Amino acid sequence: MAKTQKRSAQILKKAIRLIPGGVNSPVRAYKAVGGKPLFIKKAKGSRIFDADGNSYIDYIGSWGPMILGHAHPRVTSALKKAVENGTSYGAPTELEVVLAEMTVKAFPSMDMVRFVSSGTEATMSAIRLARAYTKRDGIIKFEGCYHGHSDSLLVKAGSGAATFGVPDSPGVPMDLARHTYNAVYNDLSSVKEIFERNPDSIASLIVEGVPGNMGVVPPKEGFLAGLKEVCKEHGALLIMDEVMSGFRLCYGGAQKVYKIDPDLTCLGKVIGGGLPVGAFGGKREIMEGLSPVGPVYQAGTLSGNPVAMTAGIETLKLLQKKGTYDRLFKTTGALCGGLKEIAERRGVPCHVASAGSMFTVFFTDRAVENWTDAKTSDLGTFSKYFLGMLKNGVYLPPSQFEAVFVSLAHTMGDVEKTLEAADRAFGAL
Ligand code: PMP
Repeated sequence: MAKTQKRSAQILKKAIRLIPGGVNSPVRAYKAVGGKPLFIKKAKGSRIFDADGNSYIDYIGSWGPMILGHAHPRVTSALKKAVENGTSYGAPTELEVVLAEMTVKAFPSMDMVRFVSSGTEATMSAIRLARAYTKRDGIIKFEGCYHGHSDSLLVKAGSGAATFGVPDSPGVPMDLARHTYNAVYNDLSSVKEIFERNPDSIASLIVEGVPGNMGVVPPKEGFLAGLKEVCKEHGALLIMDEVMSGFRLCYGGAQKVYKIDPDLTCLGKVIGGGLPVGAFGGKREIMEGLSPVGPVYQAGTLSGNPVAMTAGIETLKLLQKKGTYDRLFKTTGALCGGLKEIAERRGVPCHVASAGSMFTVFFTDRAVENWTDAKTSDLGTFSKYFLGMLKNGVYLPPSQFEAVFVSLAHTMGDVEKTLEAADRAFGAL
């Protein structure tokens, strides 16, 4: 149970003077839930500790990367050794080749991969490559999907942008935004219509493996396969953004689960094991368009740096262990099942949606299939639920439109404590 949050409040006061909103990524500011952000001092396993020494069961997991839990001893000791050898060289290392090989093995749709330092860089670069390859400018994305904050993709975006209700960010030039078309998720006809209205001008369609940035919204049967087909028909590339879904649904991507063969794939989060790593990859013919082989420019001072590669390699090695995903899904299933049961018993209308080790409790009585459905959620009830859980020692993402991330460090004991907290939080709604 959280006691005082005095020290966090003190740090926040100073932070607000020095950093916009006191945070370096907007959703951390708790604006959507009306609370004050906690400043974190350390984390271990399934627990996170704030500056006042309070401990919480953490379901943010750095927004996805910490699938092993925090400070896993194998990752930590490999990192200590890596740091001793220098943290960045600006020259190639064998570690990059090791992680590249692991990545293309886990994602058979990729012949080649390039590492960058964030998911935003991965999607931005994949879009540039797709535009160059097809010699077209148009992009189709889905309302409520988030693909990082590059200009072309910040149009009707999910995640933080959805949280603040400013889907079209000021500062994005209209001339660029007009090349981005928004379709309705899980509605193939909305995609076909855009292709038909804009013949020979769509370079690519980008879709989250399983959207997590409007909350978790799984694809309907046949939807992803339909996207691949319609892209092929119109000569556009299919980009699967698996920055969030990568290694969350299986060892590999949503593309493995749904049997899709995208032209390009974007990765981030888990593949960097908690350090700044993104990646994009795909078919050789397309990837060889990239500099220095081809003319499409893309670069990065810290891309593929040895410390980040080490964290990724160790994380993927541990994920390959037998039984890993069964364990993750068992924990996730117990949480989702328990939350549904409590909501029913307490008479709180909600819809629990899950995909692999991610889930969202939408406070709506509708099944959520797209952004319009997600927006019917009662945000006031979500805030009360969020604050109730925090008071009872459970650290959830501070927005209705985000995924809860379960890790291998969460035990059945954690599940039990979480459900006890939920029972109290739902009871107080
Ligand atoms: N794509 C998806 C699907 C994401 O979830 C995110 C981040 N939440 C990004 C891209 C951007 O990644 P980053 O924050 O590392 O730039």
